[in-house]
Amino acid sequence: MSEGSPVTTPRLPAGGGRTLRSLDQHSVDELDSLPARKAGGLREWGIETVLDLVTTFPRKHLDRTRQMDVADLAVGEEAVVLAEVRSVHAPPSRNRRSRVELVVEDGTGRLRVVFFNQPWRAKQLGRGTQALFFGKVTEFRGQRQIAMPAVDVVVGTEETARRRRTLRVVPIYPASGKAGLTSWEIGGWVEEALNRAKGFADPLPDDVRSSLDLIDRTTAMWGIHLPESMEEVSPARRRLIFDELFRLQLALVLRRRALEEDARAIRHAVTVREVSAALRREGSQGALATGDRTLVQRFLAGLPFELTDGQRKALASIVAELAGPLPMHRLLQGDVGSGKTVVAVATMLAGVQGGHQGALMVPTAVLAEQHFMAVRNLVGRLKLADPDRLGGERPVTVALLTNRTRATERARLHRGLLAGEVDIVVGTHALLTDDVRFHSLGVVVIDEQHRFGVEQRAALRRKGRSSVVAEAEGPKAGADPDLLVMTATPIPRTAAMVLFGDLDLVKIDDLPPGRSPVATVWARTALQEAEAWSRVRGEVALGHRAFVVCPLVEGSDRVVARSATEERDRLAAHELSGLDVGLLHGQMSGAEKESAMADFRAGRIQVLVATTVVEVGVDVPEATVMVVQDAARFGIAQLHQLRGRVGRSRDPSWCYLLAEETAGDAGERLAAMEATTDGFELAEVDLELRGEGTILGTRQKGVSDLKLASLRRDRELLLAARRVAETLTEDDPLLSRHPLLQDEVRLFLDEEEEAFLFKS
Ligand code: ADP
Ligand code: MG
Repeated sequence: MSEGSPVTTPRLPAGGGRTLRSLDQHSVDELDSLPARKAGGLREWGIETVLDLVTTFPRKHLDRTRQMDVADLAVGEEAVVLAEVRSVHAPPSRNRRSRVELVVEDGTGRLRVVFFNQPWRAKQLGRGTQALFFGKVTEFRGQRQIAMPAVDVVVGTEETARRRRTLRVVPIYPASGKAGLTSWEIGGWVEEALNRAKGFADPLPDDVRSSLDLIDRTTAMWGIHLPESMEEVSPARRRLIFDELFRLQLALVLRRRALEEDARAIRHAVTVREVSAALRREGSQGALATGDRTLVQRFLAGLPFELTDGQRKALASIVAELAGPLPMHRLLQGDVGSGKTVVAVATMLAGVQGGHQGALMVPTAVLAEQHFMAVRNLVGRLKLADPDRLGGERPVTVALLTNRTRATERARLHRGLLAGEVDIVVGTHALLTDDVRFHSLGVVVIDEQHRFGVEQRAALRRKGRSSVVAEAEGPKAGADPDLLVMTATPIPRTAAMVLFGDLDLVKIDDLPPGRSPVATVWARTALQEAEAWSRVRGEVALGHRAFVVCPLVEGSDRVVARSATEERDRLAAHELSGLDVGLLHGQMSGAEKESAMADFRAGRIQVLVATTVVEVGVDVPEATVMVVQDAARFGIAQLHQLRGRVGRSRDPSWCYLLAEETAGDAGERLAAMEATTDGFELAEVDLELRGEGTILGTRQKGVSDLKLASLRRDRELLLAARRVAETLTEDDPLLSRHPLLQDEVRLFLDEEEEAFLFKS
């Protein structure tokens, strides 16, 4: 950048121009236009390097030729004006409410602007400041005014004195009033940076660029920061958005390729043909005899129901991969009740029939117990060929491991796993402890994936390589088990591509037949609430059961438990008097929870008052009503999970969401819940309401590098970015033929990730 700069820029076969890495090696302190005292403010804001600065993008652009004139403002309307402060007045306050009054002017007229309890505005908006004021125009003593507008300072007082720049399109940066930085200042520093950097090296191959109709990076950078006209802005944004998404997708695709590179797969003894034959139910007689049919075939033939189309399709793609040369790494998405468990069991049995073991990990002990029973019921009387046994076969063995498993039982289980006598183990994170070793772990299934971190996923998987069989064959032996993660939390496809970009996706997009969608009522009035309670009584009278979900309360687990207990007592005394009302919350002991669930299942408890512990996986088909108290406080995903606890049989069911009439996001959430039971549709609404930030969270590094891109708006570019990332790495898995691109991806990775992806 400047001559004699202490930092040397890396030598890359650049087609001329700056790389992002070289900009990252210059501190903003090197900019002549940046006074030292302002650098601190920038730094506080996370802007340290020239790269940080030039990737701080304008929030919007203001077309000076088309702004609103003060003279035209009408009372009662929302307005945006760019005006200069003429006078500032801060009258001494009589009550403790301070007031700052401005008169602003734009050459066509004057307007009064007033702030309450924001004394700092007097300093921020000194005489001569130019700013954008957003707000509703009202009338005050015959004058037009805007009270408490949103403000973007465009040109601060210092700068008006020496107005260096005349821009026809003014970029509005997310200026920070608190750090004392104006949009105009930031724009000035960016301008210097661009002037000194001049051209940018473009890492994107020309053919990709032209096929996607993207402009080059230099034009894009200038076009977003210093456009000559508004027409330049949108192609510039498009190019820069693509870059953000492309870097992220490249990192994900490289990660997947690196896993594949390193992988040692088990080629499971299962074929698509045998599975589809079983699904056609060819000769389903004698379903339980060993005979010459495989374990998976006998399992499928013995099911008491037909698989749905969605289950078949999911299973077919899973089996193809189990048999294939790479370990499976797949996310199975299926709405609550879509029947993922059967698919999971078939997947594990495919491993078992080849002499391996399956492990199913779930987030809580309650769930583990429930899954254990479900799996045991499903594999029921299945037999496995075993030449060591009298009769040549033995039952398929399923075991349970949680932190509640007693020591003796646990020791026996450990031995069984080690000896290969346990075929399928269902458990919690207790499975991850060191003393759990397998004879030969072939398939790992993780349910409710969002409750586990990537690291836990990997930890269970690693137990494959340390299996006994593997070690016996020497250090080079040992294979990676196939991995299936399952989630009932629907995620829009775009978000899934960013969050789980290293997993292949497969979806069950239907539900078992004979289920009626849950009729959902947003109960806003006392009358509707009364209807909810009378529905509970009515259903209980028919021999069905009901859930009541307690309001979300803030505080410790103890506080939550107490409030749930009070709620139960209150309901039992009033709305639900005469019914058997039980309780389930997180502070109860394992045994207490278990007995509450057992009583509920058996009908000894008719109504279960519960905290959100019922959210995940509770399967009681007789439950046909759910009442959610204070529903406005729950998020869409949570409501959807909760509602999934009913509607699990052929009987019609209901969900009552108790909440007063309300506008805003809460209202939209409840309205959406009323309107649809489709989890994917709800996920889109959720994304719309909450924005990607909250959905993606910080779980995925790189998401914070998305400054311009929006998963909602930029779906098309995301798909293109994914496609290009796949193609470019197809036969060039380390991007050696695209050094600029490789360098840029590495720049945005943390060290550990970089070392993993580019270890050579
Ligand atoms: P989830 O996808 O929510 O985990 P489950 O696997 O728990 O769903 O299945 C929910 C219920 O549906 C279970 O009782 C299961 O036995 C039943 N089920 C699964 N598949 C089918 C099917 N194809 N036909 C009928 N019932 C099914
Ligand atoms: Mg489930």
